[in-house]
Amino acid sequence: MKRLLVLFILFSMLMSNAQDTTQLVVVLDAGHGGNDPGNLHQTKGLLDEKDLNLAMTLKLGGYIEQFLGHKVKVLYTRKTDVFIPLEERVKIANDLKADYFISIHCNASDNPSVVGTETHIHTFQSKVSNKLAHEIQKQFKERAGRYSRGVKLKNDRLYNLLVLKESNMPAVLVETGFMTNPTEEVYLNPEKGQDIIASAVFRAFRDFVKTNHSIEMRTADKPNEELKNEPVWKIQIFASTGPVSLENPDFLSIGDPIEEIILQNTNSAFNYKYYVGSFASKKDAKSKLKDIKSGPFKDAFLVKFE
Ligand SMILES: [Zn+2]
Repeated sequence: MKRLLVLFILFSMLMSNAQDTTQLVVVLDAGHGGNDPGNLHQTKGLLDEKDLNLAMTLKLGGYIEQFLGHKVKVLYTRKTDVFIPLEERVKIANDLKADYFISIHCNASDNPSVVGTETHIHTFQSKVSNKLAHEIQKQFKERAGRYSRGVKLKNDRLYNLLVLKESNMPAVLVETGFMTNPTEEVYLNPEKGQDIIASAVFRAFRDFVKTNHSIEMRTADKPNEELKNEPVWKIQIFASTGPVSLENPDFLSIGDPIEEIILQNTNSAFNYKYYVGSFASKKDAKSKLKDIKSGPFKDAFLVKFE
């Protein structure tokens, strides 16, 4: 009996360990906050860096929760306008044994003509960080239409970034644009610009974890075991014979991330389908559909994903 009990306990421990490994933890870090505003707004009425960082970070977290929430737990170093010392930010991520750390910032330069996005890592030795950083820059450049200044290392900037140096997990710091360039500052300020930036970082992170942790999207056309019995409703807004830019103005006018699903081996020529949302309740989906139909996608309709 005793032996059986021991075996049972061992088995339970193994099972709970197996479950732990399926849940990834990402710590999102909105740079600055409270009495540390970061870079100040240049144009009257626009936001300081701390507020832009927070807005984009919360959007990014929202997308991760919405689309990868079943596999990725999102935690924040701050969700409000408070000052958190850098050491504390690192400690939060290290204590939580987070799998990834993503810090969001806005850049500044003495030269107002300097524009573009950068993703910072500590050194090339952090291979995972480097890979993720390149994914992010690729999304900025190829899908979001932002100018990419590339991946930057300690040697490029000639100083250490504490949150990258001291964190125990793959860590990137994203500079989303230059507040000292008038055009880029205006771009970062309305929600639309923040959405494009947040969705680009989201897509990079999503593709990265899908490749490296065999994680499937909640709404993928191949649902995984645990979600098989929970259908979700999505709104199909568009279908096409070829890929369509997710940053086209009609898509952006919706204000929600657009999901592209490419169907294979079907008789239809319209294999590129574009969806909005993922609702457990048909009622919620219907109310969103009504919203969407008042915009450019009059023929949008609901699709049930089993
Ligand atoms: Zn900053």
